[in-house]
Amino acid sequence: MPNPTTKSGFVALVGRPNVGKSTLLNALVGAKVAIVTPVPQTTRNRILGIVHRPDGQVIFMDTPGIHKPLSRLNEQMMSFVRQALEERDLAVLIVDASTRFGKGDEFAIQLLKQYAPKTILALNKIDIIKKPQLLPLMDRYAKLHDFEEIIPISALRGEGLEELMEAIVARLPEGPQYFPPDVYTDQPERFLASEIIREKVIGHTKQELPFVTAVLVEAFEESETLTRIQANILVERDSQRPIILGSGGQRIKQIGTEARVELEKLFPPKVFLELLVRVEPHWRDNRAIVAELDYRGDAPR
Ligand code: GDP
Ligand code: MG
Repeated sequence: MPNPTTKSGFVALVGRPNVGKSTLLNALVGAKVAIVTPVPQTTRNRILGIVHRPDGQVIFMDTPGIHKPLSRLNEQMMSFVRQALEERDLAVLIVDASTRFGKGDEFAIQLLKQYAPKTILALNKIDIIKKPQLLPLMDRYAKLHDFEEIIPISALRGEGLEELMEAIVARLPEGPQYFPPDVYTDQPERFLASEIIREKVIGHTKQELPFVTAVLVEAFEESETLTRIQANILVERDSQRPIILGSGGQRIKQIGTEARVELEKLFPPKVFLELLVRVEPHWRDNRAIVAELDYRGDAPR
């Protein structure tokens, strides 16, 4: 059983949307996030992925809302953002080295300064920046905060990941293996389903809908032969409905087909997917909806 010299701990993974958190987790966990029995979790205790190594076990935890201080969504989230950070052994802040440092990053660093005991900075996407830009960039970040370490990585190419993991494990306490080695995540299936659908919606509409879309899974029924999923795509105005539907319903059909193909990999052998577009003005202010969306890694855009 647990080797007494093994380290283990809970690590807050912090980063704006699109910085590469999912890519990094998939690369580190080494498998597209596997599904285990869904365990209800509170938002501040959501596990994103678990990395099992000979020298330790690293449990990456989500910290939703950390980049967005405004609106009720975040008001609700702020208290567990603080608490979540305080309960972690370490935080890893991921930034996209190829884009400008923004307000969201600044706000996150402020929270980390206040509530996270130790933070490692991972500068991601170094494969697409010019080499001479790297040192000045590391310098700039070093001035912003007393990071434990600043590690350039490319989650996509797998560069710097061993260095990152070593830096993480080195800062964790000795501890037990909290999870058996075949467990990678405990994200509920409904959440994974809604994320896949949302990804397809965004993929097809981002030019025309540079605003919020949310996906709520209304029904999720599994049998031996079929998983039936019914989901609502929420938009805020009537005029946004046809954008999702497309002419003659072509677009939503396409979204549904693409989502179903991916969902069937997670829920074999067959998925029956039903998508509806629901107009829900001000859904972001609706507490019931926001509560359900709490399972989301990134606050809805
Ligand atoms: P998340 O929103 O933080 O989870 O970000 P994703 O993992 O979904 O990545 C957002 C986009 O950045 C995707 O198109 C990824 O392929 C891309 N990406 C992630 N990591 C890297 C990287 O190291 N290099 C490059 N060039 N692109 C990356
Ligand atoms: Mg992601």
